Order: sequence, then C-alpha cells, then structure tokens
Amino acid sequence: MRYTSTRSRSLSVSFEQAICSGYAPDGGLFVPESLPEIALSDLQEWKNLSYPDITTKFLRRFIDQEEVCDADLHNICIKAFQGFENPPNAVPVVKVGHMYVAELFRGPTFCFKDLGMQVMIHILSYFCSKRNQKMSLIVSTTGDTGPAAVQAVKDVANPLLTILVHYPHEQISEFQRKQLTTANSQYVSVAAFEGGGDDMDAVIKRMLANPPQGSVWTGVNSYNICRPLMQTIHYVWTYLRILDDQKIPFSSDHSLPLIDFILPTGAMGNIAAGFICQQMRLPINKLVAAVNVNDIVHRAMSVGDFSKSDAMIKTLSEAINIQIPYNFERLLFYLTDQNHKLVKEWMSHVESEGGLTLPAEWLEKLQESFVSARVTDDEMCETIRRVRTESSYWIDPHTAVAFCAARQLRYDESKTSNRLTAILATASPCKFREALQVAVGTAGWDDYFESDFPSAALQVYQLEEQPLTIYKAKDGASLEENHVEWERIARDTLKDLAELSSD
Ligand SMILES: *Cc1c(COP(=O)(O)O)cnc(C)c1O
Repeated sequence: MRYTSTRSRSLSVSFEQAICSGYAPDGGLFVPESLPEIALSDLQEWKNLSYPDITTKFLRRFIDQEEVCDADLHNICIKAFQGFENPPNAVPVVKVGHMYVAELFRGPTFCFKDLGMQVMIHILSYFCSKRNQKMSLIVSTTGDTGPAAVQAVKDVANPLLTILVHYPHEQISEFQRKQLTTANSQYVSVAAFEGGGDDMDAVIKRMLANPPQGSVWTGVNSYNICRPLMQTIHYVWTYLRILDDQKIPFSSDHSLPLIDFILPTGAMGNIAAGFICQQMRLPINKLVAAVNVNDIVHRAMSVGDFSKSDAMIKTLSEAINIQIPYNFERLLFYLTDQNHKLVKEWMSHVESEGGLTLPAEWLEKLQESFVSARVTDDEMCETIRRVRTESSYWIDPHTAVAFCAARQLRYDESKTSNRLTAILATASPCKFREALQVAVGTAGWDDYFESDFPSAALQVYQLEEQPLTIYKAKDGASLEENHVEWERIARDTLKDLAELSSD
C-alpha cells in the first residue's frame, strides 16, 4: 500500500515514510492510496480472533510485506497489547442500559490512546532499528496522548527513540500530570506551556517541517496516519462483539445490521477512523460526534460552520477541548470522494481565514454519515450521576459527554430504538478525580475509589514527580512571539535528549 496526501494526488510514499514524517510535506495529511473493502468473509474470519490477531490481519492490508514481514508484524501486535488488562480481549464490550459500551480504556495508561499509540510506537521503534537511525517524537497533548506515548516509548526502551511531550500548564488532571512527571526515563522529556490546548500545534508543525540536518523528527498526534488506521480496528471489533451478543449469524442471505457509534470527539482522529471503516463498508449507520462547549465540530456538522472560536473555553472534559481539529481534513477528503484539489482549496481557506463555511450540498452529504451534539459541564456531571444511579456504572467526563449526547438524541429510549448503538468509552474515571468530585462530591469519589478504581493506577500516586520545563507566556507578548521562544527551547531540549539517551 502506498500513501498519498489529502492535498495532492501526485505525492506517493511508503507506509514507513508516511508514519515517520507525521504530516505530508505539502502540509496535508497522509491517507492510504486506496481503502480495501471489509467483506463478509473477513468478518466471518475475524470473529473468533483475539484483538492482537485482528490487528495483525487488519494492518497487513495497509503495510507491505517488504516493509514489515508477517512474523515481525505479528510480534509487534502481540507486544503492543502486553500492557493491557486482558490482551486477547483488549476492548471489552459491555451492555449498559439499552446500549453497548466499548471500553477502550483498558490499556496501560487507562485511555483509548493506548490502542493507537502502542502499536504505532512499536512500529516506529522497529523502523529505527532497521535503519539504525535515531528518531525523536514530538507531541502536544490535552491530556491523554502524552502519557500513552511516554508509556509506549518506555515500553520499547530503544535508545534510538526519544520523546518530547508538551501539555497546557494546569489544564490537565493531576493524575495525567503525574503520569508524565513520574516517567523518569532518559528517553523522555516533558514540558508545560502557558497557553490553550492546541497552542503548541502550529509550533510543532513548523518544527516537523524543518528539523536540523540529519535528525528525524516525527509527530505522533492523530495527524499521523497510523493513529486513525489503528483506531479503525476497535470499530470492527465492537461490531463483531455486538453481532455475537445479538446472536446474529453471518450468512450471505442475511443482511448485516447497521450500528450507530457515539463518541466524545476532540481532534477527530477517532471519528475519522470510524468514517474510514464506513468507507471500507463496515455496516455503520451514523457516527455521532459528542463535544463539549468547544463546539467547532458541532457547528460544522449541524450548520456547516467550521470556524475557529475566539478562545478555548476551560471545561471538565479537557481532552476534547479543541479549536481546530486536524482530522476534519481527512473527513473532507473522504466526504468529497478523495478530491485532493477541493480539500487543498478548503484547507488553504481554513489556514488563512481561520475557518470555512461548508457549501450546502456538502453539508447535506456530511449529515448522511454524521450527527453531533454539544454538552455543557453541568449536563456532563448530571450524566455521570445518572448513569451511576441507573446502571451502577462509573464513567469518566469524556464518556459522559457521549452518554449525554445519546440521551439528547434519544438513543437510550428502548421503545424508539430498535437500533443497535455503541458508545465508545475513551477513558477510565480514575484519571479525572477533580471532575468526578465536581459531579459526585468527595464522598462519591471515595465510593468510586473503593469499588472501581483500578489497582494498577495506584502506582501513579506512589512515584515521585520530576521537575519539568515550563514555557512561559511573556506579559504583553503575542501568541506568535511566544511561539518563537517556545520553538527555540523545544529545539534545544530535543538536541539534549537525543545526545543524553545514547550515552
Ligand atoms: C483524545 C481523547 C478524546 C478525543 O479523541 P479524538 O480522536 O482526538 O477526537 C476523547 N476522549 C478522551 C478521554 C481522549 O483522551
């Protein structure tokens, strides 16, 4: 499989080149040159396989033998899931009320980012060793991406592979901060910046486009194609588990049911993966984007207004605080049946004007696959309480945004819905004590802590936090001026990190 850019068809690179560079050189995002179809026979074949085995089969279609042979690919997929609670069943699908919930958070850092990140970083490490080439990963995170990436880099422990992680100062939870600052590894450096959730994105994009001579720098946020590719797998997996639970047989004389997926949505990597699955003919009805009051995705899907808001609003579901979600570009690409020229035109407009109004005919087409809902903090908190009372099930603030969207859109009413629905639960509540306490009070949290808190998560509290770099916002300086300074510090840090790790 070759990879091309959303913005120009003439670009054609290998999987290795695509995953090792993050963004495409023309500023677009990498996408596979074609999407193989998921046939009935595939689903039949996969239904009894373990999660790592489905992953191997699925990725095989996107990575050529010459790049990673069968044995190595299988080995990577086995290792990548070793830190999960139950590797063969890495994503338990449970029933809560009338809906299915795919628990995507049973990985080593208690969040769905582990699913994409572990495999991706194992593959990157594989390529580093194959080329005997050092590589530095650069990440900006609104919370969960950083810990997942750091954990994966520590797990592969390859002296050729180092990582620099950025997060917005005081805008991630205590647990997430501890996950980062207790990493204590010579392969890892952590920095906090005084700004909004995606304020480092522009700096990182610039750095990735212009690394020093001889260095390989790679971005592992979800603009990297490996993330959405990996994240398609949990849709297939969840689909298979639901069919199994419903005792729906696979046979050519049965048409397979359509399933709706509801998920908390930030940078749109996860929902773009769902759309890719739908393009590959997995029977998905609607993909429901559940967002908080940083609502660009909801404005885009409901009225075609994809425009950057004036400022990031603080919320209790910080991992989905976003002003410009990068993967909207991949959505547009598939929406327009892979029209590179139109996507390029639109994205240039977004970059120069800070937004785009989607023409009516395209909005209509978008709405054939997508629905959206906007959820306030109050509604989110009420939802945590309600689901706990009604179903004795603890959900995190992001999953609660999805549950609340399900209610707003009446997915949870049994009478009106014979439809099959899956909520993607993206994180464990254990990461969000502050938000949980707002929702259920200190006593409620204590109750959760005693009944449901994962024992593996206790470790995070026991290690000592290491000092970290803070990128200050200078008084009176513009964001652009701060960016210049932050970029300088980041470049120095990466240089030191690459030298230190190989000592
Ligand atoms: C990252 C994240 C999301 C959003 O996923 P995107 O792919 O960025 O849309 C949702 N919930 C949690 C807990 C996350 O960490």
